[in-house]
Amino acid sequence: MLAKAPRGTRDILPGEIEKWQYIESVFKKLCQNYDYNEIRTPIFEHTELFTRSVGEDTDIVGKEMYTFLDKGERSITLRPEGTASTVRAFLEHKLYTQAQPTKLFYYGPMFRYDRPQAGRYRQFHQFGVEAFGSDNPSLDAEVIMLAMVFFHSLQLDSLVLELNSVGCANCRPLYRKEIEKHLLKYKNDLCLDCRKRSETNPLRILDCKEDNCKNITREVPGIYEHLCNACNEHFSEVTRHLKYMDIAYKLNTKLVRGLDYYTKTAFEIVDPLLGSQNSLGGGGRYDNLVEVCGGNPTPAIGFAVGLERVLLALGNKKVDLDFREKEKIFVATIGDKAGLEGTKLVMELRKNDLKADKDYLDRSLKAQMKQANRIGARYVIILGDEEIEKNKIVLRDMQTGDQKEVSIQEIVKTIKQEIN
Ligand code: AMP
Repeated sequence: MLAKAPRGTRDILPGEIEKWQYIESVFKKLCQNYDYNEIRTPIFEHTELFTRSVGEDTDIVGKEMYTFLDKGERSITLRPEGTASTVRAFLEHKLYTQAQPTKLFYYGPMFRYDRPQAGRYRQFHQFGVEAFGSDNPSLDAEVIMLAMVFFHSLQLDSLVLELNSVGCANCRPLYRKEIEKHLLKYKNDLCLDCRKRSETNPLRILDCKEDNCKNITREVPGIYEHLCNACNEHFSEVTRHLKYMDIAYKLNTKLVRGLDYYTKTAFEIVDPLLGSQNSLGGGGRYDNLVEVCGGNPTPAIGFAVGLERVLLALGNKKVDLDFREKEKIFVATIGDKAGLEGTKLVMELRKNDLKADKDYLDRSLKAQMKQANRIGARYVIILGDEEIEKNKIVLRDMQTGDQKEVSIQEIVKTIKQEIN
């Protein structure tokens, strides 16, 4: 039986990868302009990093982690998200001793054992940014702006930015009490997960996707009445910045996000056209996480965007990305000497930053022309022993059908002129 990729994982093949590379380059360029530097952390970490930072009671830690004992009996986990590793690296390498804030971005595969469906995979890819060392609301606005500009650069203009404040260690406990009070009468109507959550972290119930739980939490009051002065002020400054920069947002008082570490600002970017997996990305402040991971108190904020979801959103909107693949040149040869000369010419074209290929299967000229067509070559150079003798090789534009004779010395220059 032929082997298949594990459930929830995908191969990204040529033909599709070009889109990925383009989106990756858009994100990287944008991060550079915003002065965020790339960090690459290991794909696996000690399990404890995630249990401690993401939170024991979260779905990620409770149900979705790929955790195993390695041969040295250490508990290892494939990273389910990027923030915890970035915080660990920030502390391990004392990045806080450098000019602050430390502004980082990452890109790479993440792993969660979840039920696969459209837009939900077990290995998926996230772009993310993390900024450490400032609790200034203008940094919240910058991080949100970066995410939105990224989507705009991909012509995804109809996304909704949902915004909330989840308070801090001072004010959230009061809100939690309020929710507990509200849920008391409905406890037995909640789903099994939420019954557990009502003991461990009732706020998380606001995030539940089950219809019944959604109905129950509909009447739960928003967190605003419970925000302390500092959180209130911070939130109104964030919104003031966003308004000033013309970034539209929608308040979502039930937005709590699935991870424990968020404080104050929380946001999510949603595509109303996508089905149940409609969140393209999200993030927020996590002012306590660095301390939880053993560092000095350090405010921080970040977000992560799922690349597969971005591709889904692009597919739905039939957005044509503005990227041009390099034109291909195929060198077709007839005869022994021409074969050798052709190999040299292909190398020469490549050396001159042109994309060139040739025949490797001893095909006839007719079959080589067919091959050039199949691989989508824009130009074919036809080279026979006789043409070499006369130093006149044929350059054919496969799009227009035009053909002309060019000397070997002129071929690179001529093709470069044609392409531009
Ligand atoms: P989170 O780290 O849970 O806040 O997720 C951030 C973003 O990552 C989401 O908005 C999705 O775009 C993406 N994402 C999260 N989980 C998955 C998954 N299982 N499959 C594909 N994308 C995901």
